Amino acid sequence: MAEFEMVIGLEVHCELSTASKIFCGCSTKFGGEPNTHVCEVCSGMPGTLPTLNEKVVEFAVKTGTALNCEITRKNKFDRKNYFYPDLPKAYQISQLYFPICRNGKVEINTSKGTKYIGIHEIHMEEDAGKLVHDPFSGKTMVDFNRCGVPLLEIVSEPDFRSAEEVIAYLEKLRDTLQYLGVSDCKMQEGSMRADVNLSVRPVGTTEFGTRTEMKNIASLKAIGRAIEYEFERQCDVVEAGGKISQETRRWDDEREMTYTMRSKEDAQDYKYFPDPDLMPIEISEEYLENIRANMPELADAKRERYINELGLPEYDAGIITGSTSLVKVFEKTVEICGNAREASNWILTDLLKLCNDAHIAHDEMNFRVESLGEIIKMVTDGKINRKSGKKVLAAVFEEDVNPAEYVEKNSLAQVSDLGAIEPVIKEIIANNEKAVSEYLGGNEKSLQFFIGQSMRQLKGKADPQAVRETVIKLLNELR
Ligand code: ADP
Ligand code: MG
Ligand code: ZN
Repeated sequence: MAEFEMVIGLEVHCELSTASKIFCGCSTKFGGEPNTHVCEVCSGMPGTLPTLNEKVVEFAVKTGTALNCEITRKNKFDRKNYFYPDLPKAYQISQLYFPICRNGKVEINTSKGTKYIGIHEIHMEEDAGKLVHDPFSGKTMVDFNRCGVPLLEIVSEPDFRSAEEVIAYLEKLRDTLQYLGVSDCKMQEGSMRADVNLSVRPVGTTEFGTRTEMKNIASLKAIGRAIEYEFERQCDVVEAGGKISQETRRWDDEREMTYTMRSKEDAQDYKYFPDPDLMPIEISEEYLENIRANMPELADAKRERYINELGLPEYDAGIITGSTSLVKVFEKTVEICGNAREASNWILTDLLKLCNDAHIAHDEMNFRVESLGEIIKMVTDGKINRKSGKKVLAAVFEEDVNPAEYVEKNSLAQVSDLGAIEPVIKEIIANNEKAVSEYLGGNEKSLQFFIGQSMRQLKGKADPQAVRETVIKLLNELR
């Protein structure tokens, strides 16, 4: 029996994090009361005209530049016509003939090594609304808040040969778009959605098989499972001598299977034509230069720099650069405390533990970004000890307290001034003659006894180093 391989191409939709929609001034904010972010334009009233939000073009060009694409200098928008209740105009404004970016490539890393995935194109378009099915009344309602939220559709070449590659690519896209600040790419909120096109063919052949498309799968885990299931299903059909029909299938994550949704439309079914309401967009060389010159440092470059210039272990650098929220905390912390290793240790051990214990995602952390650096500085300056530092961090994490004020209020400051330490130690020495003579007779253990007693008397707030030195000094004066 022939062995099969999977061939996959992805269409990924990302909602752009512009403040307003693509063709009107309505807010793009997620989670508003239904139908409160709408106007005549995005609800498709006859006679209204779209006005392009320039920011969308900027975000598209930035994305295309980061994904090594050619930027189309003369672009325009086209109408994709279809009727559906979440699309009040009965057409979506998109780009068919001149997408803004083409011919890019993305490097991914998997257990099999490094590989490039081709980007066929990236185009700009508007999102549709959302249908909400109410199981109690049996009615379906429509929320137009999402209508007109700007999207980039990133279409890959059919270059994937495993679920692992697909997931590595999606993570890479997510990192890149987040670093660029163009999309938050939250799959659980639908701001990043992937359609998976999959076909099978005997290993060693070059022709593509007929593909099916699985739409809008809601998480990376589910995408992995859907791919494995659909691959097996197609192999079974082909091995039994059957034919795959080109169709859209839906993945049911609970039942762990795909089923037919509809047979696939072709481009001609949409009767595309250039949108007469929008002017063509011409992108100048100057505009491109300016964007290239102002590209932020992306994840890979940052990770390399953390390892080579800041001396972080590869593992630490990977964890921190895997999340733009951690990067933000890390860079501010280093700026304040001047010590990259300390900063990454505190983030990897203490901060991530707080996140885990509270089941809080990195991007949900909510405290003044300067706080961690200030805590570390207090510890390394000997102002508080490490244990108190952890206590302060927990309070910062939970209630966003000001570290210095918290230390003051809870009297966590270490006593390192000798005026406070010496009298306490002197008294302990005076009260423990036996231990003194043991120490002077050469018993090192008695030293620990004095240090322990002193720390206890000073309620753990004394600087251990200062206590140790003072104990030794005072005991030696008795020789
Ligand atoms: P459509 O416009 O119908 O969505 P496209 O030609 O734009 O189709 O391709 C959509 C996606 O499907 C692309 O990511 C492409 O790489 C992928 N694709 C095309 N043919 C195949 C195939 N035979 N097997 C797997 N993926 C494919
Ligand atoms: Mg498609
Ligand atoms: Zn609007």
